[in-house]
Amino acid sequence: MTMEVRLADGNSTTPATLCLIAILSGLWFFVYHWLTFARLLAQPEAATVTSPSAVAIINAVVAAACLIDGALIAWLWPRRHRPEPVPRASIVLAVTHTLAFLAMSILFGAFTSPLTMVAVTALVVGLALLEMRAVLIGFLVSLAAVILYQGLVMLQLLPYAPALVPGTFVNGTPAPWWSSYRDYLFYTSLISGIGLMLWQFNRMDRQRHALEHLSHTDTLTGLANRRYFMERLQAETQRRDRYGRPFAVALCDADHFKRVNDTYGHNAGDEVLREIGRLLADVRRPPDVVARLGGEEFALLLPETDQEGARIVCERLRTQLRAHEFNVDGHRFQVTISIGCVDCARGSGEEGLKQADRLLYEAKAAGRDRVVLGGMP
Ligand code: GH3
Ligand code: MG
Ligand code: MG
Repeated sequence: MTMEVRLADGNSTTPATLCLIAILSGLWFFVYHWLTFARLLAQPEAATVTSPSAVAIINAVVAAACLIDGALIAWLWPRRHRPEPVPRASIVLAVTHTLAFLAMSILFGAFTSPLTMVAVTALVVGLALLEMRAVLIGFLVSLAAVILYQGLVMLQLLPYAPALVPGTFVNGTPAPWWSSYRDYLFYTSLISGIGLMLWQFNRMDRQRHALEHLSHTDTLTGLANRRYFMERLQAETQRRDRYGRPFAVALCDADHFKRVNDTYGHNAGDEVLREIGRLLADVRRPPDVVARLGGEEFALLLPETDQEGARIVCERLRTQLRAHEFNVDGHRFQVTISIGCVDCARGSGEEGLKQADRLLYEAKAAGRDRVVLGGMP
């Protein structure tokens, strides 16, 4: 069982595609805004808009955001399959969208309009899909704009909610068009914001698992690495001490491996190590751990296995490997291994591994291609 080493997260989506998704998630709010705003202007009360020039400026900001979005889409679409980041497009997008959402929320009042909620959702969208730097720049620009706007309101140079005409409320209750506009924006942004947060947490969770897997994996063979082997060895030692369960450790070293490298080259040597890894993984039973400790040295941790059980596993492994014909770049040859196997009845994991190393040395000294079994001294 070889494990595939790759980061199984959302990395297959390119930065340009994520940017396009972020654009579309904001653009439809702008379009919806225009449709509603047209309805507002159709009301007889539209003539009572407190500051037509402020409304015109704000609508120009939203219109400019739509135009910039169109240009960004045209620029990003041909790049959607490329893996390179798109930092400039992300910054332009973050700044225009935060400003447009801010402008829209000013239009109907930051405290009376659900667009403030939409702006917070837009921040979540940015954090989930864009580079942090772009989101930060967008946030700082909008913060400066909010301070400027509040200053203008305090100086009575700008009215609060310039588009909130008296007709938006009839006898103290919101007019149906205004009510549906508010509800729609509130709930869609709330649901999409929560959805995005869940998606983002799920993505982080998958990345964490992938990194955990990588930190336990030997990159050449896809087997467990030394760190993971030592962790499991320690856990198995604790289990033995507590419940008296037997386990064995085997150290396997390829014989005269230097010759393989010298004769067929280092790449061929690597291929042989991968294949030895596959053969080892095939003899592995579910609770066993097979690891590459480094170089041409592999280790087996055999839980619930006494000396006789360990001998059977090691002999099977040795004979299978000796019968295996390697075929690398058209060269056919055989490789044997020597195994030192210890029945870890007592002592620490490190002591068990040391004893296995001594037994492996004995196997080498006795002529290689053999298994030497023993207990703890
Ligand atoms: P012995 O039977 O005594 O174990 O002989 P040996 O040649 O296998 O042992 P030695 O320790 O003398 O040499 C180990 C060789 O393994 C040397 C090195 O080139 C090779 N080796 C170690 N790690 C790697 C690796 O990641 N890839 C390849 N291709 N070769 C490696
Ligand atoms: Mg060797
Ligand atoms: Mg060695």
